[in-house]
Amino acid sequence: MILELNKNTSESLVNEIAQKHEAIVVNETNAYVLITPSKLKTSLPEYKQYIIKEVAVPDDIQLASKLYRSEKREIKIADHLIIGGNTHNTVMITGPCSVESEEQITQAAELCVKLGVKVLRAGAYKPRTSPYSFQGMGIEGLRLLDKMRNQYGLKIISEVRDSTHVQDIIDHVDIIQIGAKAMYDHGILRAAGKSGKPVLLKRGFGTTLQEFVQSAEFILSGGNPNVILCERGIRTFETKTRFTLDLCGVSFLKEYTNLPVILDPSHAIGYAYGVPDLTRACIAMGIDGLLIETHPNPKVAKSDAAQQLNFEEFTALYKSVDTVAKAVGYKIV
Ligand code: PEP
Ligand code: MN
Repeated sequence: MILELNKNTSESLVNEIAQKHEAIVVNETNAYVLITPSKLKTSLPEYKQYIIKEVAVPDDIQLASKLYRSEKREIKIADHLIIGGNTHNTVMITGPCSVESEEQITQAAELCVKLGVKVLRAGAYKPRTSPYSFQGMGIEGLRLLDKMRNQYGLKIISEVRDSTHVQDIIDHVDIIQIGAKAMYDHGILRAAGKSGKPVLLKRGFGTTLQEFVQSAEFILSGGNPNVILCERGIRTFETKTRFTLDLCGVSFLKEYTNLPVILDPSHAIGYAYGVPDLTRACIAMGIDGLLIETHPNPKVAKSDAAQQLNFEEFTALYKSVDTVAKAVGYKIV
């Protein structure tokens, strides 16, 4: 359960109440928020007088639960772009799977500028399935992304592969991406929790919705309220597509959690031919954003070659998305 205490409660009393309820304390701007194991359904009678809000929850979806905060969280990216809240923004994020060279990432950034896309994505540390595949440019890739931010005014999202470079990612990006394979890594989750920067947390391909949101709880309870969830496809019996995009899961997340939800059709299907149709289907669900891989020449891409759209394909798709968003009361930004 969640207990909120007034900000003028003495530190020793906050600690005593936390200890008696086996709670984690999050020091928020307006209150001390104490999160106990979810099996606890009521606070101890002797402390009721100090508690301004008490919320019992059925399971460990707690800070992310609509039972605790019914409004969708608003996440500020750098100073003016907002994801979630009641903006009804569907924020477009695009760029290559990996930063491969200055020329390639500059072309991707220029496509964003040309179309009005505000967030550029690209991995510098790639979590590959094989040790013999391209592992990413590392810190050099992050420096190139910094250059794109400075040169073109774009916001940057890039992923953490493991905890050895988590601080480099935090220092260089506007949104920290925690990928499908990294989402169980508590070192990464705790570092993201401490950083306060917006985090895009991807669902693992074998992860239940409960486990997914509990991973988000590690970041939220670490003191970072700026978490965005990303559905990117789960593994099913089907092998014709790379993964299966779980739109039912998206409905669940929208209904029961207060976190913005972004969809990634590129990694879900794994093939460029299906990305435009899937993107429009995603937008029709009324979502907070999209992550779509584009590459100046997908055939020579060093990772995820089959699923990246070339610039003509992305431009054609981009021209078709506004009407779909409008039909469900959203706008593409
Ligand atoms: C990516 O975004 O390029 C990526 C590797 O995604 P995921 O973690 O969803 O596989
Ligand atoms: Mn990729």
